[in-house]
Amino acid sequence: MLIGIDWGGTKIEGIALTDEGKEMVRLREETPRHNYEGCIRCVVGLVKHIEQVTRQTGSVGIGIPGSLEPKSRLGKGASSTWLLGRPVEQDLREALGREIRVENDADCLAASEAIDGAGAGYRVVFAVILGSGAGAGIAIGGRAHHGPNNSAGEWGHNPLPSPNITEIPGLPCYCGRHGCLETWVSGRAFEADYARHTQCDLKALDIVAKMRHGDRLARLVWQRYVNRVARGLSLVVNALDPDIFVLGGGMSNVDELYTDLPPELASYTFSTVFETPIRKAVHGDSSGVRGAAWLWKEN
Ligand SMILES: [Zn+2]
Repeated sequence: MLIGIDWGGTKIEGIALTDEGKEMVRLREETPRHNYEGCIRCVVGLVKHIEQVTRQTGSVGIGIPGSLEPKSRLGKGASSTWLLGRPVEQDLREALGREIRVENDADCLAASEAIDGAGAGYRVVFAVILGSGAGAGIAIGGRAHHGPNNSAGEWGHNPLPSPNITEIPGLPCYCGRHGCLETWVSGRAFEADYARHTQCDLKALDIVAKMRHGDRLARLVWQRYVNRVARGLSLVVNALDPDIFVLGGGMSNVDELYTDLPPELASYTFSTVFETPIRKAVHGDSSGVRGAAWLWKEN
């Protein structure tokens, strides 16, 4: 049995898969935000609960909203800032009393979708999470690519390309820089942009619903959002030209993204043609948790 845990900024989810990828059980808890010890306890509780329900012991793979320093193995680059500098891997290993595998959540998405999702059959998969934060992962031949700095896919901390005068210097990012893509293209950024222009706090899907009902301001905010995602992804096309883009996270559920984004992106790439497929993650919100479980399947 393969247990996967998706430690996200708003929820922590656990599943158990059979070796063939069939789901046996799924559990979900709200993330104890800004409470590192609480998160560790929550992960341990989910694993124990899964093993009680299935009456089996499983391998445990965990996707975290950040990554680990290649040498010290301390948490870094995490939008869930309470992981920064923490010995996440060691603490989880001790708390669970077994070897575990920890990966960046976007790497889990990329590997999961490359193995049996939207990216199946494509060699280089660039997976993007447009959720409470914005992250990316690269899978090559079905495996997450890391690089010597464990930094592959840290796309969200590039500055927004071709900024206009209103986008400079941009909002501060938790990483210490200004105007990172994450501060423009996450679901929260979309909501914040709408709020700045309307003084009205709405959830992303409510703003989209207004747009669908003909609200002009909601449509303008949406168009600006798509344009920013396009500018961000044009960097990736020019540097890597992946075989496919797979989108995950809450914003990936907005169908208009798949019609509005390709022409916008085409207008920013150096290439005169743009034929890269842009698809929604097949396993939806489950991609991260499935990819975490698959961390032990690979070997
Ligand atoms: Zn940043």
